[in-house]
Amino acid sequence: MSVKKIVGLQERSAVYLVKLGELTLKSGNLKDFEQRLVQNAQLFLEGQQARVQLRAGRMYIEGREEDSGRIEYALRHLVGITGWARATVTAKTIEAITEAGLAEARRAVSLGAKTFKVETRRSDKAFPLSSYEISRRVGEAIYEEGIMAVDVHRPDARISVEVRERTFVYGPEERGLRGLPCGTGGKGLLLLSGGIDSPVAGFRMIRRGMKVDCLYFHSHPYTSPEAQRKVEDLAAILAEYGLGTHLNIVPFTEVQQRIRDTAPHDYATLLLRMCMMEVANMACGITGSKAIITGESLGQVASQTIDNISVTASRARHLVIRPLVGMDKEEIIGVAKEIGTYETSILPYEDCCVLFSPKHPVLRATLEEATAIYDSMGMGPYLEKAFAAREHKRFGWKK
Ligand code: ATP
Ligand code: MG
Repeated sequence: MSVKKIVGLQERSAVYLVKLGELTLKSGNLKDFEQRLVQNAQLFLEGQQARVQLRAGRMYIEGREEDSGRIEYALRHLVGITGWARATVTAKTIEAITEAGLAEARRAVSLGAKTFKVETRRSDKAFPLSSYEISRRVGEAIYEEGIMAVDVHRPDARISVEVRERTFVYGPEERGLRGLPCGTGGKGLLLLSGGIDSPVAGFRMIRRGMKVDCLYFHSHPYTSPEAQRKVEDLAAILAEYGLGTHLNIVPFTEVQQRIRDTAPHDYATLLLRMCMMEVANMACGITGSKAIITGESLGQVASQTIDNISVTASRARHLVIRPLVGMDKEEIIGVAKEIGTYETSILPYEDCCVLFSPKHPVLRATLEEATAIYDSMGMGPYLEKAFAAREHKRFGWKK
């Protein structure tokens, strides 16, 4: 993809300056990462008259005023950026810069700021004033107009000036999602339930650059269509960050009945987990995923003791990633609220795991015993049949 010069910025267009952060550390494959980020931003803005460009470690997005809502939506969902701000493009004169700085200061005051600081970066060394001098001139103008007081240590508002190939002035930055551009980290398969944890686990891996597909097990008619609908809604939310996702929906009623009818009751949940892993292996085959992602968190429930997690993982033929393993529930809930999955996750529809689940599940299963029970149950054909009966849904992102 060619990185074009920013030319012909129209006066009434909306211009955004985007900071790339961690990408700058990845010197080896920096070009690939940057290109992927630009591509992802373009995917978000497909069909809009917006331009995405990369120049000297910054991304610029420019669109029509009426597209600004769309652009800001994209920036709130784009992983791989540390911050962004809507900027004013000014003529390359100190007068124009000062005028734009005053406008930013007034805007900051209207949002409640009481103190400010001006920061300038000047990469265009042909500009006659130093960055210090530019900051001083703009700062003085704001101060003299009585708009705000200066505080260079802990200002409420930072007003930034960048003198580059063009001149940009902008106010407080919005925080980006950080992480690495989606699609640079291979593909993973998320075991997505309707709970709070697994969507957060999926988001965490999307934020490390993974493309994430999802796998959900239901037990109609014991679990309701609403329970599945909830999982679809969660997949749709994840799809907005992960630039789309495929959800595979596998009917597990017969598998669960088989477990209920043939296994020791206290092993039921653990055996169900082992079966899920076996089907996840199959799904990895068709989705091209290199890892299985779960929302397991150490000690959260009986099936998540270190012994039981180990038994579950013993059935996986791929790396099992548990991004939440060391997180507390409160922290997980905090992320779920931030990414917008919490409200859906807490809707009161049952998951298949609670079906036929034992009152006193085995807490510390041994691999030998669990494997012996599992092997004696002849689950293979049940799992093949369940997987063959899967339903597939695709979720996109907003353009
Ligand atoms: P979650 O909030 O993600 O449901 P949880 O705390 O309820 O997690 P468990 O029910 O023990 O924990 O599930 C552990 C993990 O197993 C889940 O995070 C998810 O990755 C996977 N899992 C559980 N139930 C299902 C299901 N019905 N379909 C797909 N994956 C599931
Ligand atoms: Mg659950």
